[in-house]
Amino acid sequence: MYVSILNKKVKLLEILAEGCHTHPAYRAKRSATGNCTDCVVVWTARQQLKELNDD
Ligand SMILES: [Zn+2]
Repeated sequence: MYVSILNKKVKLLEILAEGCHTHPAYRAKRSATGNCTDCVVVWTARQQLKELNDD
């Protein structure tokens, strides 16, 4: 595995671990409503992580 991809994964995992401070219950199992920027960031990170893991 390329180190750059590994670094990207670590960053995404950090975002997921941090979660949304406004909605701590949101674990990105469903898509974000779009009303909260932090939730969208967490959701996007999960999608990107999924794509990386599919490779
Ligand atoms: Zn939120």
